[in-house]
Amino acid sequence: MKIKVATRVNEAREFLKRKREAGGTIGLVPTMGFLHEGHLSLVRRAMGENDTCVVSIFVNPLQFGPSEDFDAYPRDMGRDLDLLASEGVELVFAPGVDEMFSPDHSTIVSEKKLSGFLCGSARPGHFDGVCTIVLKLFNILRPDRAYFGEKDYQQLQVIRRMVRDLDLEVKVIGCPIVREEDGLALSSRNTYLGEAEREQAIALSRALAQARSVFDAGERGCRSILDVVRMVVESYPMVSLEYAEIRDAVDLSPVKRVDRKVVVAVAARIGRARLIDNTILCP
Ligand code: AMP
Repeated sequence: MKIKVATRVNEAREFLKRKREAGGTIGLVPTMGFLHEGHLSLVRRAMGENDTCVVSIFVNPLQFGPSEDFDAYPRDMGRDLDLLASEGVELVFAPGVDEMFSPDHSTIVSEKKLSGFLCGSARPGHFDGVCTIVLKLFNILRPDRAYFGEKDYQQLQVIRRMVRDLDLEVKVIGCPIVREEDGLALSSRNTYLGEAEREQAIALSRALAQARSVFDAGERGCRSILDVVRMVVESYPMVSLEYAEIRDAVDLSPVKRVDRKVVVAVAARIGRARLIDNTILCP
């Protein structure tokens, strides 16, 4: 089947209306494009669990701060469409900014409990931008299921909360982090890394692996585990740690001891890249 690319809201709506009327289920994978195996793992899952898979490609200006990398964010629509076509994706929704936001757009969806720390501290307004675009995509495409990576762990929990709080009829599905062979989590922003920076970028996954091994050896104190994380990151001079925190895996509340399922989350700057990673610990 040939891949259909819809750049208009109504075009995508029409296409999916027909699928829905024929009794098919719809799986959505929202992305900002410049696709890699992480994205494709979500696509494959969505394809396996639904009759129609729609992938959205939209670099959402609302989720970038004024001094962030909106303009520099890597884009390659031709390559993305080739990749999605070879996966057998039926519909790509790739609207322009004007199609998604009228000049007097003035409504923002704001989650108030889980968005104000971790990435929310360094990126004020970021999760408002995420919630607003994801709700718009849900309203336009009306998926039965939507697929998000655990790589953006806080984003996943914020979206789950929005879906619960606003009674949205979509099942949110979290998918495991896909990594390079050396452990670096795949990210479109990895293209910002120079050669030496790329080598040092393993600091994040190494630090998380070390956290896991002290946890496996019996350590339950968050302070001690985070000391290990910081020590590992500090041994990579090009990597500047933004945060390392351990929080409840569901409500993201702070925890002192790993006495329930938690997430160890890190963010760091390497050159002009800001990278994030996380791992789950479960006693
Ligand atoms: P992005 O294009 O960066 O907005 O990502 C689109 C979706 O792909 C999000 O749900 C991300 O969490 C997910 N994603 C990005 N990188 C990875 C990865 N390495 N493994 C799994 N999912 C990922």
